[in-house]
Amino acid sequence: MKKTAIILSALLIGAVTGIQAQTDKSPVKSKGFVAMDKQGILQPYEFERRAVGDHDILIEIMYSGICHSDIHQARSEWGESIYPMVPGHEIAGRVAAVGKDVTKFKVGDMAGVGCMVNSCGECEHCRNGEEQYCDNGKTVYTYNSREWDGTPTLGGYSNNIVVTEDFALKIPEGADMKRIAPLLCAGATTYSPLRFTGVKKGDKIAVAGFGGLGHLAVQYAVSFGAEVTVFDISDEKRADALRMGAMRYVNVNNPAEMKELGNSFRVIISTIPTNFDVEQYVNMLKVDGELVLIGMPSHDQLPMLNVEALRMRKKVMGTLIAGIPETQEMLDYSVAHNIYPEVEMLEADAEAINRAYRNVVDGKVKFRYVIDMGTLR
Ligand code: NDP
Ligand code: ZN
Repeated sequence: MKKTAIILSALLIGAVTGIQAQTDKSPVKSKGFVAMDKQGILQPYEFERRAVGDHDILIEIMYSGICHSDIHQARSEWGESIYPMVPGHEIAGRVAAVGKDVTKFKVGDMAGVGCMVNSCGECEHCRNGEEQYCDNGKTVYTYNSREWDGTPTLGGYSNNIVVTEDFALKIPEGADMKRIAPLLCAGATTYSPLRFTGVKKGDKIAVAGFGGLGHLAVQYAVSFGAEVTVFDISDEKRADALRMGAMRYVNVNNPAEMKELGNSFRVIISTIPTNFDVEQYVNMLKVDGELVLIGMPSHDQLPMLNVEALRMRKKVMGTLIAGIPETQEMLDYSVAHNIYPEVEMLEADAEAINRAYRNVVDGKVKFRYVIDMGTLR
């Protein structure tokens, strides 16, 4: 009797989580949303993922953030993308199955996936936990990328994902699952440069572009004790910036507010997703100041810089997401310090996602959309 009950409950859990996919080593059935071409219009899609391998986990996706990078890629704005494309690299969910050699996760754990799902693991940068800078060019991104065998990767606008445990993140206990997904990209990408530029108490820093990434950059920098100035293109989010602890908010379209800001900042983080006047920001750096360019505009919107502006020992650099160990550090830090994105929840519905894309580009969402994958039908 007891044995029957155990078998029955195991079958029931299997039915709910899709766990049987792991036991029979067959491909995992998935459904979600796909863009078929560079128009970038999402539509419902059914597909298969690889069977759960010995080092893999199967995550039942609960929430998936919409990053501006999803839109750039769905529309082939960074060069020709790979289609069919299931976007999504801000993934949070529950572990539904584990391969036999998995040690970091067990069924039922909360787990996340960010922008990468594999890398060589052997080069200097991979060994240092900076897999995004793999010297052998073997970084595999969560979507719009290929596994080493050439299979295209498909992202998080879907009900599940199979990933090696090495590239899955542990979501700390007590985390607010509804808001945590955007940390997997937006959080990691802004936390990392604030760390590698050593932003600390009393530093005067600025964040340009106060959207999904920018509002997290502000919260981290404030938590590190910096005096933060925010630059954006309208007055709409002034109160939000001050509420999040910024000292000052500058509407770059108001010339009066742009006065007397020269030689002001030790670090400026730009998340601006389109063309802008880089020199204007370089001129606002102190000597030895650092401008970190996070925003990755479309290829026809790339800003140019007159290098003469750099002669007062100004530094301009790019940065790409964050490595796995630092992403884990950021998640732990965020949950411990109650730092989360401000999110608008979306139903898992193609039309809602397409509308959301238009709103992100048109500046009609304040911070971040998150798709509630639990509502997928
Ligand atoms: P959002 O669209 O959410 O945020 C961009 C913000 O910048 C918006 O508030 C927008 O205002 C504002 N903005 C637009 N133009 C200007 C301007 N000229 N001056 C100041 N502010 C401006 O995008 P995300 O935060 O999701 O992404 C930002 C960029 O970062 C994207 O290009 C994305 O691809 C890139 N990215 C790069 C990564 C990396 O590893 N380097 C990782 C992740 C993202 P409004 O809302 O009014 O339009
Ligand atoms: Zn992103």
